[in-house]
Amino acid sequence: MIEESNNGSADEPIIVCRDVHKWFGQFHVLRGVTTSVGRSEKLVVVGPSGSGKSTFIRTINRLEEHQRGEIVVDGVPMTQDVRNIDAIRRDVGMVFQQFNLFPHLSVLDNITLAPIKVRKRKRADADEMAMELLERVGIPEQADKFPGELSGGQQQRVAIARALAMQPKIMLFDEPTSALDPEMIREVLDVMRELAESGMTMIIVTHEIGFATEVADRILMFDEGVIIEDAPPHDFFNNPQQERTQTFLSQIL
Ligand code: ADP
Ligand code: MG
Repeated sequence: MIEESNNGSADEPIIVCRDVHKWFGQFHVLRGVTTSVGRSEKLVVVGPSGSGKSTFIRTINRLEEHQRGEIVVDGVPMTQDVRNIDAIRRDVGMVFQQFNLFPHLSVLDNITLAPIKVRKRKRADADEMAMELLERVGIPEQADKFPGELSGGQQQRVAIARALAMQPKIMLFDEPTSALDPEMIREVLDVMRELAESGMTMIIVTHEIGFATEVADRILMFDEGVIIEDAPPHDFFNNPQQERTQTFLSQIL
């Protein structure tokens, strides 16, 4: 059964995960993840490599299928029903570590492809919206270039613009600055900060601690497929409850 989107009231969480489990073959990668995300909330996810951070956020737009537990996005339960999956994917944009732009398409066409093909927008409208988004991410002059002609920071800003072109309610970021040279990290974080201020609901896997402190409402620590710490930045960094969180912080700070 498909349920109408927008049926959640303003104070209900936009994402609910209850006891989510996932296996890759025999490997139990998510081992009971329970959390919820409020509308407009910014969640930062940290944790050691291999702890399930990417897998967790990928279950939220069904890039990975979970096998047990419940995920509900804006009132729509994530089931096998493609109508539910499509409804959820319409609400969720994603930005990857490796940008994942289409190399054979111009910057502008990267951004307008899905709005034209999936949303049936007219090319002129789509182009206009894409130019507004490129203004917003600070690179309108790159519209006609190909991704390979751009710096990593510029490519990632195009990837953010491309995700925003589908007008998502939620944006997922999987280590968006990890593949960037240090001098380009800030320009991407600045765009994300601006997006946060605009009220977007965001889940961000990142080890950029300054950014997390400034932007996050809550920080989740993953370890071996479960959330072991969930606290606002100040408490998370100054008074972590779990020894493994303290050890992890001592390695990254
Ligand atoms: P993180 O993002 O925290 O580094 P991941 O969610 O990418 O962790 O991966 C968690 C674990 O699941 C790792 O041990 C990884 O090797 C394994 N894994 C991830 N994707 C797959 C896959 N497609 N098939 C099998 N194992 C996978
Ligand atoms: Mg990862």
